[in-house]
Amino acid sequence: MIPPEFEYYAPHSVDEAVSLLRRFDGEAKVLAGGHSLIPLMKLRLAQPRALVDINRIPNLAYIREEGGHLKIGAITRTGELLDSPLLRKSYPILTDAAQEIADPLVRNLGTVGGNVCHGDPGNDLPACMLALGAEVVAEGPKGPRTLAVSDFYRDTFVTALEPTEIVVEVRIPKVRPHQGNAYHKIEKRAGDFAMAGAAANLILDGSGRVESAGVALTGVGPTAILARPVAGALVGQAPDPSRLAHAAGLAESVAEPSTDLRGPIEYKRAMASVLTRRVLERALARAKGGG
Ligand SMILES: Cc1cc2nc3c(=O)[nH]c(=O)nc-3n(C[C@H](O)[C@H](O)[C@H](O)COP(=O)(O)OP(=O)(O)OC[C@H]3O[C@@H](n4cnc5c(N)ncnc54)[C@H](O)[C@@H]3O)c2cc1C
Repeated sequence: MIPPEFEYYAPHSVDEAVSLLRRFDGEAKVLAGGHSLIPLMKLRLAQPRALVDINRIPNLAYIREEGGHLKIGAITRTGELLDSPLLRKSYPILTDAAQEIADPLVRNLGTVGGNVCHGDPGNDLPACMLALGAEVVAEGPKGPRTLAVSDFYRDTFVTALEPTEIVVEVRIPKVRPHQGNAYHKIEKRAGDFAMAGAAANLILDGSGRVESAGVALTGVGPTAILARPVAGALVGQAPDPSRLAHAAGLAESVAEPSTDLRGPIEYKRAMASVLTRRVLERALARAKGGG
């Protein structure tokens, strides 16, 4: 369980970090919390020539609303999501997810940027970011660019990020009136990755119908999955229990689970719908001011 030899750099600016990534031409990796990367290196499933540790770059850890967005700095620890009164009140889906990520040891070091960038279909934040319609801001040799999270996940551990780019921020559209969201997963043991998970974000119009919906799944495919048919079955509709049940049932059709130690295909597929229904109900209650 000893990783192969690597060079280690701890730059003090994003520009310096990008130059280092460029110098190693795709053979260096960003090190954030290290709670996914280091285990992969120990198993020799990742063998980067160098690690570029971004923990000493100032001003990359924050949670704030600004200019129509909730902005979260890339090295904000997942534990800080749990501690934020702003998130608990206005973006409770992130509090729900943070609560279900591993344990305090992992949450104290693991970062929001790392959780989003790792591309593990079992990570909890990607589905939340998909449901919320988030974007990531990346800095690279050509300057900054913004990518929709809905275009970010290409395959397991494969994202749209270039190897010379660093995610510096995750941006979420600022909360609106009559908006509610929720995340829930089931796990084999407390603190484990999801057997299946679901995220939902609902915005209601003045008459109580669904104006906008985002629904996404964890752990039931090669990446986190945006469940577009579920959202499509809700928009413009009155969110009564039968409508929620019908929409949640469609989650099974977008899930692409595989059998593994966390459970068989049929169980995970069924859980995609069960969990989707639960998070839709909770998101609706929150949109109405409860939950
Ligand atoms: C025992 C255990 C249980 C866990 N359980 C869960 C769980 O239930 N749910 C869950 O979601 N996660 C879980 N995790 C994973 C944990 O949340 C990790 O912290 C997270 O997946 C990665 O974040 P990190 O900051 O540690 O990233 P790192 O491990 O440092 O990096 C992960 C990957 O992302 C890249 N990367 C990191 N930051 C950036 C950036 N800013 N820009 C570009 N690339 C970047 C790295 O190069 C690397 O490829 C668990 C981990 C452990 C060890």
